[in-house]
Amino acid sequence: MRERMEKRLIDMTAGTTPLLILVVAPSGAGKSTICDRLIDECANIVYSISCTTRQPRGEETDGVDYYFLAEADFDANVADDAFLENAVVHGFRYGTLRRTVAEGLRAGNDVLMDIDVQGAKQIRETIGALSDEDPIRKGFLDIFIVPPSLEELEKRLTGRGEDDSETIGLRLINAEAEMACAGEFAHVIVNDVLDKCYASVRRVIEDKRV
Ligand code: 5GP
Repeated sequence: MRERMEKRLIDMTAGTTPLLILVVAPSGAGKSTICDRLIDECANIVYSISCTTRQPRGEETDGVDYYFLAEADFDANVADDAFLENAVVHGFRYGTLRRTVAEGLRAGNDVLMDIDVQGAKQIRETIGALSDEDPIRKGFLDIFIVPPSLEELEKRLTGRGEDDSETIGLRLINAEAEMACAGEFAHVIVNDVLDKCYASVRRVIEDKRV
């Protein structure tokens, strides 16, 4: 797996090192808003489109929000070792294709991944196996966004009115488990005030650019 990662990703545009940015957070912590704003405001950051076996919600479009795959197609990608990482999240399967990340980086873009803690762990292991001089390792940045407290998270999840109380309960249990992984991330940013949190995320990204 390491060899494939090196082979496929090392051949990138010379010059500044594109960043591989992981933004991870419990549901309701403000991750989507922050990721959407990064994409809107930073021309060189592209979103890594994941695969999932869940059904599209609302106006979600295949190939834009996710690649919506049947179980068998997801299995085929696992068998082909096509995923850089994959995990079951909230009962559905999600995965990032190596190809998606490699193409983004090779084009000289920073690639933004919105994934869960299990996926982050797998990526970190892959990156950790690369040499210190590897551009992927040099450009790797993992950020964990935390709500100020679980009480505040519950308030936000209830306030957005998208989920029933059972789902909110489940998300809170998951949030607690996810927050226990915060220490694995190089950067942990509290989202108490959205603009402040976003500014901190931007600063961490700009500081990484060398
Ligand atoms: P949603 O289905 O609400 O869009 O996403 C549910 C969760 O799955 C979110 O926490 C999101 O970060 C995570 N997720 C989305 N894509 C991927 C992926 O490719 N890999 C992993 N490990 N998690 C993902």
